[in-house]
Amino acid sequence: MQMILASTNRGKYREMKAQLEPLGIELLFGGDFEKPLDVDETGESYAENALLKARAWAEATGLPALADDSGLEAEALGGRPGIHSARAVEGSDSDRMYWLLGEMKDKSDRRGRFACAIAVVFPDKKEPLTVTKYCPGQITREPAGESGFGYDPIFVPDGFDKTFAELGGEIKNKISHRAMAVKGIAEMLIPVVQSYAVRGM
Ligand code: IMP
Repeated sequence: MQMILASTNRGKYREMKAQLEPLGIELLFGGDFEKPLDVDETGESYAENALLKARAWAEATGLPALADDSGLEAEALGGRPGIHSARAVEGSDSDRMYWLLGEMKDKSDRRGRFACAIAVVFPDKKEPLTVTKYCPGQITREPAGESGFGYDPIFVPDGFDKTFAELGGEIKNKISHRAMAVKGIAEMLIPVVQSYAVRGM
């Protein structure tokens, strides 16, 4: 069964492709699509935004489409930046990371969590699937580590004493919000893949 990733982020593609392959799902990269879509994230939750993206890509390609939406929530900021994490301030990932450290300068409560929702939309009007998972941890006072992206250098997941950027991809991809969400959606996809196989698709 073929499925298109509703994203042009190759890092996300690599991570998800490896997890879906054993189920018999061939994940195609959104960035290879001739006209990659740029869908406005106007939803009020991660799941709504993931659904908006997956719906648009399923309609445009005629293939089942998988989309994700994620963000970082700081307890002391009432859950901000949350669904606005990618656009919290103009500029680069690094600008946003320093913006968050600034917002949290005087906060002693450093608790936070990454969230990730994944949605799969089928072009044949079958009910969409969605799942949302979290990775709790602490937001540091200064960045550490080089790997990953976004807020990775300032997030220490619970049970560890290093940031995601110091832990590296191999560990992050086992425990992260995105890894958990892909695992969840993979479990929901097993019966769907079986029914498509029976129908010879
Ligand atoms: P989107 O899911 O692509 O809309 O963007 C989510 C934003 O949240 C990213 O631009 C990052 O700033 C942040 N984010 C989401 N997941 C992670 C992660 O695993 N590490 C670091 N930052 C992340």
